[in-house]
Amino acid sequence: MVLPPGACRRDVLRDALASTADATDEAELAERAGHFVRLVEGEATNIKITTQDDIAVADAIAGQRSDAAMRPGEARSRPARTGRAGFGYDLHRLVADRPLILGGVTIPFDRGLQGHSDADAICHAITDAVLGAAGAGDIGRHFPDTDAQWKGASSLDLLRRAVEMLRERGLAVGNVDATVILERPKLAPHVDAMREKLAEVLGVTIDRVSIKGKTNEGVGEIGRGEAIAVHAIALVRQM
Ligand code: MG
Repeated sequence: MVLPPGACRRDVLRDALASTADATDEAELAERAGHFVRLVEGEATNIKITTQDDIAVADAIAGQRSDAAMRPGEARSRPARTGRAGFGYDLHRLVADRPLILGGVTIPFDRGLQGHSDADAICHAITDAVLGAAGAGDIGRHFPDTDAQWKGASSLDLLRRAVEMLRERGLAVGNVDATVILERPKLAPHVDAMREKLAEVLGVTIDRVSIKGKTNEGVGEIGRGEAIAVHAIALVRQM
């Protein structure tokens, strides 16, 4: 099936019209006048606008396109149809006489992470990722370590509060993925317990939470076991 729209050079169209006007469209006209007509692959959404009703259909198609293609004013007035990504990073020193809490799980180890709260670096990186995706600042702004009310706070609880802030903005978490960089202890035996706790707080199913452990190959402070670092990414979407 051949569909409009077509494009025609003006000199070709003028020449074709001079020889005959007996055609249903420009392509037929040009062909009758001996010009070569080339067909190109089309797309169903590239509709022809003839009547007022066609404009409503075209508007609906255009609305399905990415917000990025819209002018800034339009993007603000419409809900995001694509997800919004956020990135978070955290690092804490490993010190004696502290429990090691990661992803809301207490892991048996001879040292723990130093910090004002429970120093759960996985929760902190994920909190920054979800706040970042919402354009809602960062963990330090909402839960400053200069504020006594967050001393010894459960970081899982801080993450829960951040997710609540997202809900107030009409946003929900789609998924999170985190990479934890540490030499010891082994993370693998605890990963599923962490995913379960994080999924509950994030309001997603466990398959939407990914935690991956990596060593630093003995390089630098992390390699010497002096600290644990976490990188996390989160996707949020309009509810
Ligand atoms: Mg932190």
